[in-house]
Amino acid sequence: CKDASVPIESLDQLSKTSMPLCMRMCHDHIRSQHHIKHGGRMQYGLFLKGIGVSLEDSLRFWREEFTKKMDVDKFARSYEYNIHHNYGKKGSMVNYTPYSCMKIIKEMAAPGDCHGCPYKSLDPPTVKAKLAAYGLSPGAIEEVMFFVTRGHYQFACGKYFMLTHNSNVEPTINHPNSYFEESQILMGN
Ligand code: SF4
Repeated sequence: CKDASVPIESLDQLSKTSMPLCMRMCHDHIRSQHHIKHGGRMQYGLFLKGIGVSLEDSLRFWREEFTKKMDVDKFARSYEYNIHHNYGKKGSMVNYTPYSCMKIIKEMAAPGDCHGCPYKSLDPPTVKAKLAAYGLSPGAIEEVMFFVTRGHYQFACGKYFMLTHNSNVEPTINHPNSYFEESQILMGN
C-alpha cells in the first residue's frame, strides 16, 4: 500500500521485483560503490520518498552506505542537509516531487553517473548486457531492444515491465513511481 512506510530492509528485494531499470541501477550502484553522485541521489532519493520510505529510514539508508567510505561527520556535514531538504524539512520547505520519465529521459548523465533513463543513456550493447544480467532471455531482450533502438524508451520500459511481471497488458510508463505502484498491485501488495 502506498501510504504504508516501506522499510529500507526491503529495498534489495523491491529493486529486483518492482523498480524500473533507472531506479534498480541506482540501487545497485549505491550498494556496490557506497556512493552516488548528486544527480543519482536526487533521482533515487526522491523516488524512495515517493514509494513511502520515511525520512528517518532514508537518512539511515544513505548513512549506512556512505559511511563505508567516509566518516559519519563528513556524511552529516555534506549530505544530511540535502536529504532533509528533499523531504521538505529544511531550507525552502518545498516538498520535492519524484521525477517523471520525461524529466529523467532529458537528464544528461556523464561517465560514472548512474542517473538518467538507461534505455537512452547507455549504449545498446550495455543495455542488452544489463537485461541479460537481470535474467531476461535472449528473445525477451530483443523485444525490449526493438523499442530502444527506435528511441521509444518508455515503450521499452513497458515491455520490460510485461516480461518481468508475466503480464499480457503493456502499461503506459510515464513515471517510475507509477511503474512501482503498478508492480506492487500486480504482485498483490
Ligand atoms: Fe525509468 Fe521511465 Fe526510463 Fe522506465 S522509461 S527506465 S521508468 S525513466
